[in-house]
Amino acid sequence: MDKLKITEVVKKFIEKTLNNAKTPKPGVSYIINRILKLPALKLLVTNNLTPKEIMELAYTVFYLFEGYNFKESDWKSKNEVYLVVLNEVGESYNREVSCDDCMNSGNEECEECEGDGKLACGYCDDRDTTRGRGHTCVECYGDEYTSCSKCEGEGQIECQSCAGRGQVENEYESIFFNKVVWFIGDQNMKKTLSDMQSELGEDYTDKVYDLFDTSKGSVFLSINYNEWDYEDVFDFEKENGYDIGEGDTKIESIIPIENTKPKTYKIDDNTIRYQLAY
Ligand SMILES: [Zn+2]
Ligand SMILES: [Zn+2]
Ligand SMILES: [Zn+2]
Repeated sequence: MDKLKITEVVKKFIEKTLNNAKTPKPGVSYIINRILKLPALKLLVTNNLTPKEIMELAYTVFYLFEGYNFKESDWKSKNEVYLVVLNEVGESYNREVSCDDCMNSGNEECEECEGDGKLACGYCDDRDTTRGRGHTCVECYGDEYTSCSKCEGEGQIECQSCAGRGQVENEYESIFFNKVVWFIGDQNMKKTLSDMQSELGEDYTDKVYDLFDTSKGSVFLSINYNEWDYEDVFDFEKENGYDIGEGDTKIESIIPIENTKPKTYKIDDNTIRYQLAY
């Protein structure tokens, strides 16, 4: 089956679900979700197209609903769709760092016995472990030493600072960074985003998602790699001279869909994932 035929079939199916949902124009996320959730459609597209081609098909259908003809829509799906890689500020947390008091071991030397695990017997004279007439000392049984009760003879006790875990919470907050991949299919958005990217460089901004909101139907979240990296907030803000908050993003790259490799796409959980090659 050729692409035009498949596209027509998919559009018809989607139209039917729209009548039920009473939505006039479907967004790309909706289209991809329907394609991969309706068994008949899923079978049709996966038998005929690669995941990358399904991605383009979804945009073709999207542009058709926007009012372009098939030829225009098909062209736009190959030439005006971009993959956007964002480095996004995720949740803040207190990172575990190694405990300096016990050098990571979780134990510290028992102060009572200075690490020996035993104490000189206080009951008998250490030169005479017998009391009275040949009676062995009832405390040390003639050993001259008794086991240290504080450390139970181990010589080591649980480190007080870290409760034996070897790690403590860092006093400064850390933040996770997520690596997020979006597809965008709006030329104006692409232009604004490119301008923002050159203006911001390595800086983070809270403006990207506002921009995505201006044309919600044309953007598609492909993957979110949570907790990709982390940094101490204090260090980050000192180094960069500005504050960052959850949801702020750095625009790492904007790649035309035609420059992406087919093998980096895969279908996973009824969506299309783009695998970053790192
Ligand atoms: Zn410790
Ligand atoms: Zn004794
Ligand atoms: Zn002890």
